Amino acid sequence: SDPLPDTAQGILAEDRAHLFYSWSAQRQLSPMPVARALGSYFWDYDGNRYLDFASQFVHVNIGHQHPKVVAAIQRQAERLCTVSPAFGNDQRARAARLIAERAPGDLDRVLFTNGGTDAVEHAVRMARLVTGRPKVLAAYRSYHGGSHLTLHMTGDPRRWPIDTGAAGVVHFFGPYLYRSAFHARTEPEEAQRALAHLEQVIALEGPGTVAAVILEPVVGTNGVLVPPEGYLAGVRELCDRHGILLIADEVMAGFGRTGRWFAVQNWDVVPDLITFAKGVNSGYVPLGGVLMGPRVFDAFADRPYPGGLTYSGHPLACAAAVAAITAMSEEGIVENAAHLGAEVLGPGLRELSERHPVIGEVRGLGVFWALELVRDRDTREMLPPLGAPGGPPGPMDELAAACRKRGLWPFVHTNRIHVVPPCTVTEREIREGLDILDEALSVIGSHYR
Ligand code: PLP
Repeated sequence: SDPLPDTAQGILAEDRAHLFYSWSAQRQLSPMPVARALGSYFWDYDGNRYLDFASQFVHVNIGHQHPKVVAAIQRQAERLCTVSPAFGNDQRARAARLIAERAPGDLDRVLFTNGGTDAVEHAVRMARLVTGRPKVLAAYRSYHGGSHLTLHMTGDPRRWPIDTGAAGVVHFFGPYLYRSAFHARTEPEEAQRALAHLEQVIALEGPGTVAAVILEPVVGTNGVLVPPEGYLAGVRELCDRHGILLIADEVMAGFGRTGRWFAVQNWDVVPDLITFAKGVNSGYVPLGGVLMGPRVFDAFADRPYPGGLTYSGHPLACAAAVAAITAMSEEGIVENAAHLGAEVLGPGLRELSERHPVIGEVRGLGVFWALELVRDRDTREMLPPLGAPGGPPGPMDELAAACRKRGLWPFVHTNRIHVVPPCTVTEREIREGLDILDEALSVIGSHYR
């Protein structure tokens, strides 16, 4: 066949003629072809280097092109590229063991999926079948995936264009002290009132109709919302009281992002099901899964589980997971995320907020942080407001462009910059990124104060 194009223009000629992009207005796109990547950086075809403070879609936890993961995929490709999930496979079994060994409590079995969306689909299906109940309670300000069910569970504007209502999906408010739905002024107040609210939702929906409560232990795309002390334990207790399963959606928060293997381990809470993807193998080959304990496993010990996927536990993806998890352990990558988050990244971002009044709040842990930007610190008016995706360019586009021009690739969402570098990021790279953010915030700060 023709040789591959080796310039951005050549790639874009084919790309613009034949590709359909997810989440996008097709004619308004100007995608940047990426030529290569290494560690915390990637390069375009003009040789410009970008510090990846987004970890792509918050999934390259181990950094780009980790040599041990690349080599494991190469070895596996030579030996056995694919085999159906009905057969046993060494990489799949090893990946499941490594994940189970790091999981909280009694969670020790894994159903592998292709990504996060289908992990959430299966977790909800399991909860419904185990309890015999129809409903799932999901939080406003959440993202759970792009399929029909999971997008209906999602509590953000991405749901709006497709929302026809999904049977059995009910939304509740989680804690978010900066914009408290409960008029709380302190963290303990927010935790206690958010729990009282959830308790009422359960009571009024009918506890006997609720199969599961699903939440992101640290809410990801909707703002890096770190739960106040006692909230997750309180949800666990409510679920136990009513025979409801607790699903922790750790697709974004899991595998090192919060400085622990799983985010729930920051609060010693053990859910019934954990959904994961992204960081499990940093997306070198697509992989997700559901981690479950005996309550769920035993329900399918003697009756078939109704569901599966052709690529469930794909050998290339699982070989990448084995290598990624092993390297993360051997190289102290999760500890690196915890340490640099607490000692360098968090303090650095707080320092930025002292200089830039456009920053309303700084929050996060590990390598999972957000700057929430406001027009006015007193009123907390969002810059820009919550809205459906699309619309004319505004201050956040200007901020992103200012970052990119200086060699930083940011994660921008609504009125926030999420600072989510790979877990392998170094102190020098963090300082480089903070300096660029400082300059970019000065550029927009002068217009939007
Ligand atoms: N759940 C959460 C918390 C996520 O952040 C995401 C993706 O960002 C998903 C589910 C969906 O995962 P995927 O895009 O791999 O299907």
